[in-house]
Amino acid sequence: MKELKDKLIAALKKSAADIVCCGSIDRMSDPAVKKLFPEARTVICVAFRQLRGTRRGVEEGTVFYQYSTGVETLEEVMIPGALLRGCAVLEEAGFEALPQRRILLVTNDENETNFEVDHTEVFRGKKEETLLNFEQCAVDCGLGEIGMSGSVLTDDFGPGQRWGFIITDAELPADEVAAPHLCDRCGECVKACPGHALAADGKRNSWQCAAYYKGANRTRNPFMPPDAFADDPERLAIIAGEADLSPERAKEVINQINFYPPNKHAFVASMCGRACDTACYVHLEEKGVLKRKFKTMFRKRPVWKLSLEGK
Ligand code: SF4
Ligand code: SF4
Repeated sequence: MKELKDKLIAALKKSAADIVCCGSIDRMSDPAVKKLFPEARTVICVAFRQLRGTRRGVEEGTVFYQYSTGVETLEEVMIPGALLRGCAVLEEAGFEALPQRRILLVTNDENETNFEVDHTEVFRGKKEETLLNFEQCAVDCGLGEIGMSGSVLTDDFGPGQRWGFIITDAELPADEVAAPHLCDRCGECVKACPGHALAADGKRNSWQCAAYYKGANRTRNPFMPPDAFADDPERLAIIAGEADLSPERAKEVINQINFYPPNKHAFVASMCGRACDTACYVHLEEKGVLKRKFKTMFRKRPVWKLSLEGK
């Protein structure tokens, strides 16, 4: 089976995957895996780097489209394409292979949203849909550890990767699970959020996050016109990133943020550029714990902030 695993990894890397790791079925803690494929023997995690350069525009306050189009291209093009290629290698060898990409437009929970996509396009409370816990399955495959922010952190890219899975009845050699060693609970992810959407323990309020991911904080959104939220009694708190938004209020706020063209496939153009993850990356890079080194550090200047004076 090692030969088949090597062949699979080679095909996936040819399809631009950066990290491929396998977990045996007996250590997959997410019950959804067996529900999806009762005869499964192995789960293969296929991860792709998020280019560091796609964060540069938000970092400098110059161009905001590249971060979210990077996410969109990985999720809609690169990952599904590579998974199909990898599945074909396994099926060619006589094993069944089920590709699993993130399903961003369906939630099991009635009250949650997915901050990366348009909330009006999310189908909530679909308990009948079996959704993998992407973070837990990635850890069980050996990709990395879950940081305080909820993002998976790897030695290669810190919080900067996206991934999918192949579930198969082929019994491939497993990789080791990574012992947690990257997240030191520094709290930089919590501090970096422009809308305090992460609690002190890192727990995410998905609706608050959705509003500020899309740009409700004026100090981090150069496209916000002066009359934004003009009739909203909480206007100042919203644009300062200080409002506490219930799901209903968050929807009202999000629906008024139309200052920048949306992406396709329901992806929202992100104004924060996932600042929580960027801060985490900066922290891990400064600590020197990431394997992929660059000639220069990512953060070259203090984080920019627009004034609220006269707003
Ligand atoms: S920023 Fe710090 S606390 Fe947050 S996930 Fe990264 S290492 Fe952990
Ligand atoms: S920084 Fe952005 S993605 Fe992260 S929690 Fe805050 S709003 Fe959400």
